[in-house]
Amino acid sequence: MTRNHTTVQCRVKALEVLRQVFGYQHFRPHQEEVIISLVEGRDAFILMPTGGGKSICFQIPALIRPGVAIVVSPLIALMQDQVDGLLALGVRAACFHSGQTQEEGRNVLAQLLQGRLDLLYVAPERLMGNDFLELLHKKVTPALFAVDEAHCISQWGHDFRPEYIRLGQLRRLFPQVPIAALTATAEKQTRSDIITSLQLNDPHQVISSFDRPNIRYDVVDKAKPYKQLCELLLRRSGQSGIIYCLSRKRVEEIAAKLNRDGYRAVAYHAGLDHEVRRTAQDSFLRDDVQIITATVAFGMGIDKPNVRFVVHYDLPKNIEGYYQETGRAGRDGLSAEALLLYSSADAAILRGFVEKISDSEQKRIELHKLNAMTAFAEAGICRRRVLLGYFGEAREENCGNCDICLNPPERYDATEPARKALSCVFRVGQNFGIGHVVDVLRGADSEKVKVLQHDRLSTYGIGREMSREQWSHLLRQLIQLGYLEQDVTRYSVLKLTEQARPLLRGEETLQLGKPRIRVERSKKKENRIRGQEYDPVLFEELRKVRKQIADRDAVPPYVVFGDASLAEMAALLPTNDRAMMAVGGVGQVKLKRYGHAFIEAINGYICRSC
Ligand code: ADP
Ligand code: ZN
Repeated sequence: MTRNHTTVQCRVKALEVLRQVFGYQHFRPHQEEVIISLVEGRDAFILMPTGGGKSICFQIPALIRPGVAIVVSPLIALMQDQVDGLLALGVRAACFHSGQTQEEGRNVLAQLLQGRLDLLYVAPERLMGNDFLELLHKKVTPALFAVDEAHCISQWGHDFRPEYIRLGQLRRLFPQVPIAALTATAEKQTRSDIITSLQLNDPHQVISSFDRPNIRYDVVDKAKPYKQLCELLLRRSGQSGIIYCLSRKRVEEIAAKLNRDGYRAVAYHAGLDHEVRRTAQDSFLRDDVQIITATVAFGMGIDKPNVRFVVHYDLPKNIEGYYQETGRAGRDGLSAEALLLYSSADAAILRGFVEKISDSEQKRIELHKLNAMTAFAEAGICRRRVLLGYFGEAREENCGNCDICLNPPERYDATEPARKALSCVFRVGQNFGIGHVVDVLRGADSEKVKVLQHDRLSTYGIGREMSREQWSHLLRQLIQLGYLEQDVTRYSVLKLTEQARPLLRGEETLQLGKPRIRVERSKKKENRIRGQEYDPVLFEELRKVRKQIADRDAVPPYVVFGDASLAEMAALLPTNDRAMMAVGGVGQVKLKRYGHAFIEAINGYICRSC
């Protein structure tokens, strides 16, 4: 057979599996190509944001290639979730980790040896144990290796796990077996680390956009935070959400308040008992509680697809963290929101922490990251553009789904102050950061100013009419808009860009947004799925049916069906098997197992409505 011929067959087969097993009609961008590559035996490197749909990129090849796919995953909880999800689809999957009893472990090995598994999830230290490797080598046909959370192999990343290092031997031990590395967080250095460490051989690389279009970003000035939080909860009644706080104390305090006010909330932080944390997490996954209040200790390994909102009660330390935490909302692709309560006082507290770091290089990096975070919060332009810009993804267009786009801030003529600021940057020789430039503008009487003789500059003291905060805010906006650059490698020194010239020469004017006090919310309908409106009352009823089935089978509700599937049911009103199969996420096995209960509920609802 020619190669093209097999590729065509691969495509047909992959689409068939997508539809029959997973119940989806179409591939998302990149999925099909990387699946074909893997099926044909080529390595793959997959960088996609959370919720992008990485899993089926190796799960479908696992079902098509002969043998069992070995999936390396760092967290037991995550493995179990994925396996539960696959079992519900009728896929032969299991996991193998230290949290199992001996008997459970023996059972899994028996299944493995008898060729009764399509996917086996293993912890890295288990996989690389000598016995297990020998077994794999001699008695099993690995279909492929999938290394999930692959950034854990890099010492540069923030999640380095020493046990990942040994995975580098896989290539030598199994030269013929394709390896897929998957991650949602990797800047350039980590990316090349992953490829080198795993010795990927000319991998098919998928690098998708980091945009999460279904997440709406809002930033409001933190005024009465608890009240601001409750306003959101009112809108999101009954839906799942995470509230991130900076301190453990605050986490517990908010959880207690929420419970007092009639919400079902649990607290989660690293200071709690292992058992307490597990219960908290489980009850959140199972929709037994609506809200989890947490420190950043919560989230790694949480795969809950129907988190509808993430609130940052306090300012995160950096954009990386903010992006990752907000990214836990809306993994199912339905609309979700991220609310940040911002105050410059919080920024000052964080700055205080950073100042205490003794390693000066690290301090500089952390400070720069914090500045970027504040700049995001204070930005007068589309949040998504700032966010994606930070990750090196330039966007020309405004997103239309953030507070700035939907409720543009009031604008004022900032030409004069902007000119003052830019010329001051020029006068100090483009050699200083924001703090010093502001000092000079405001005519500060500081030692540094005197020593440098900057009190003799023509721009010294020309900006006394504005406060420090106002000047910093303006300078950050000028950076955002590209009039100034910050040299990260040199103490965040400010430099003029080409774009600044016409403004400085008086050939251009500049309008800027005023700092924002409060964000208005439009009453836009959110009950839409793939452009169709769905019935929210029926949706709630279907959620109840789902919860009953989930509790009966002791699995999280989303294992039965995701919110997206329920919403689609509430839009399409399927009352027979064929119509039900057309709903995204309904494959053959799930149709047989659960379809009937939902068809019945829909029929009942239609009868009652007419
Ligand atoms: P990731 O691992 O990248 O965070 P997942 O693999 O968990 O993301 O996928 C996120 C969600 O998108 C899941 O609910 C998954 O079933 C769904 N999904 C993946 N691929 C498709 C597709 N082609 N069509 C519809 N939904 C999909
Ligand atoms: Zn926007």
